[in-house]
Amino acid sequence: MIIGLYLIYTTFHLGPRFEEKTTRGSALLDAFVFHAVTAMLLYCYALCVFVHPGTIPDKEEDPSWDYDEAEGPQPIAADLLMNMQEMKRSGDRRHCKWCLKYKPDRCHHCRVCRICILKMDHHCPWIYNCVGFRNYKYFFLLLLYTSIDCLYIVANMLPTVRAGTQPTTPFMTMFWLMFGETLAGFLGVLVVLFFGFHIYLMSKAAILGFSQYEQTGVLTVDRSKLTSC
Ligand SMILES: [Zn+2]
Ligand SMILES: [Zn+2]
Repeated sequence: MIIGLYLIYTTFHLGPRFEEKTTRGSALLDAFVFHAVTAMLLYCYALCVFVHPGTIPDKEEDPSWDYDEAEGPQPIAADLLMNMQEMKRSGDRRHCKWCLKYKPDRCHHCRVCRICILKMDHHCPWIYNCVGFRNYKYFFLLLLYTSIDCLYIVANMLPTVRAGTQPTTPFMTMFWLMFGETLAGFLGVLVVLFFGFHIYLMSKAAILGFSQYEQTGVLTVDRSKLTSC
């Protein structure tokens, strides 16, 4: 879909403008901005796919997270209780029955990846990966660049689409221009909504963290999240 949009934009919008002398300068600038944003988008996409979201340490790395099935769930140790926010309703420490490990706060098991993910946001089929602690920042930037790219195509291609509706334009050119504009607009609106939703959630989490800090004196919002805001 992205490749299709890219081809439509370059073939039917940038291409003809490069050929005409009067529009060559502005076409060059548009091409530069468009390709710069697209390059950042692809870079963030690659990072989202290949950076592991983060999981609970193995027994060999840190035995304190290892869950012993024979022993059953354990209450939270006093020194951990200070920093822990989430626990089972019984007051026991949370654990994962598939990975057989204790879960830190905001850690969830992903059934698709078959592993526990730290600070799991959601499993994203578009990047074939979970969005979690280590790749959340890249996912956030990916949404940002995709929004910019889509809106840029819509705004930038509009005059060409308008000119393309004249009866002298070949049918296929008109069709692809209309199709590209609609697709970019549709995708743009979806991504902007999704992006806005994430900003809303993040601001809510930050406010919640700070209000808890005021009440308890324990700062639960960690620094990595604040820098990604
Ligand atoms: Zn698990
Ligand atoms: Zn997953």
